[in-house]
Amino acid sequence: MAAPEIITFGCRLNAFESEIVGRAAREAGLADAVIVNTCAVTAEAERQARQAIRRARREHPGARIIVTVCAATLAPETYAAMPEVDWVLDNAAKLRAESYAAVAPRPDPLPLAGAGAGRHRPEAGEGKEATRVRAYLQVQQGCDHRCTFCIIPYARGPSCSVPPAEIVAQARGLVEAGVREIVLTGVDLTAYGADLADAPSLGTLARRLLAAVPELARLRLSSLDPSEIDDALWSLLAEEPRLMPHLHLSLQAGDDLILKRMKRRHSRAQAIAVARRARALRPDIAIGADLIAGFPTEDETGFRRSLDLVEDCGIAFLHVFPYSPRPGTPAVRMPAVAPEIVRERAARLRAAGAAALDRDLASRIGTTGDVLVEKPGAGRAGFYAAVDCPQDVGGIRTMRFAGVAGGRLVGVPR
Ligand code: SF4
Repeated sequence: MAAPEIITFGCRLNAFESEIVGRAAREAGLADAVIVNTCAVTAEAERQARQAIRRARREHPGARIIVTVCAATLAPETYAAMPEVDWVLDNAAKLRAESYAAVAPRPDPLPLAGAGAGRHRPEAGEGKEATRVRAYLQVQQGCDHRCTFCIIPYARGPSCSVPPAEIVAQARGLVEAGVREIVLTGVDLTAYGADLADAPSLGTLARRLLAAVPELARLRLSSLDPSEIDDALWSLLAEEPRLMPHLHLSLQAGDDLILKRMKRRHSRAQAIAVARRARALRPDIAIGADLIAGFPTEDETGFRRSLDLVEDCGIAFLHVFPYSPRPGTPAVRMPAVAPEIVRERAARLRAAGAAALDRDLASRIGTTGDVLVEKPGAGRAGFYAAVDCPQDVGGIRTMRFAGVAGGRLVGVPR
């Protein structure tokens, strides 16, 4: 194996950071190695990581196997106890080349590198490319909240932001490399800037970025906490066509009592108000959302409020998460919903999400919009819908949306 092989589980942040992890390992001269970036968000993600570790050992008997990221930060002993594993690095240690320089054949007992989830800034390295023309740019790391279902703050530490000047420099580099759309990401993106000297908000950052990089055609935001959207971001949404008409909201539930038990900071009414305000400012906007099915104590009435939220907020892109108990979080001590009911509710929510997407796409037929062609025959509208387009078009093209097929719009260049 010439360069380290990297296996990544979990969120976009993990995908983004796998670039940095790979670069740090290469800088340290590590070659014959497999690095497994684990995720702690669900028990299933951890099971898959353990399976991947065993498979990696079978397929690469002589390689160093290094396990890192969230699950390895939260339960390093679990991974150190696996005979296949040579080294365990926590979330802070994984970004430093010297952590890999130390990796040797497995000593006994295995030391655990790093000191837990302290505050650490995201690396201002290159953005992970989603495609050749669209890239993620991580601007914030960690989270100061303690939602009762979520293990992330324990693994990622407190919120920590990249200063705007570094983000602008990074964005310029991406644009020079041919990127047309940048997606700003973070663990708690709307908390951006609170830890910096002059506390720039996410909206302030986005405005500054668009002004400083006029060649950047499109800016998109990843998941937003509805209780944290700042005034500068609202103004930008109203005024700036380069900010894409697409908001993904971290809603999680539609029932106020469940939201309280989750320790979320918004109410059902506030979620609906945010969606309405966004639609009033940008009538072509598409709203995305995360919802959890079967949170402890959720009864049928409470669940129906989540189900109704799909329509009440006009959600087009719904991500459904069946509740998964994470040891160490307060929610595991709350009365659980039976697993078969959790599955059934997740299926009902997914069906509602699929129907809502169909409705949203159908409402776009006959309209026109700019499509960023990401690869031959496939692109994305500003409002995030996937668009099938002719093989021989590229760049950003104005298209008429002529129909819907398989959850995608059919685009005809104008
Ligand atoms: S805001 Fe809540 S759900 Fe999001 S990372 Fe922080 S604790 Fe987890």
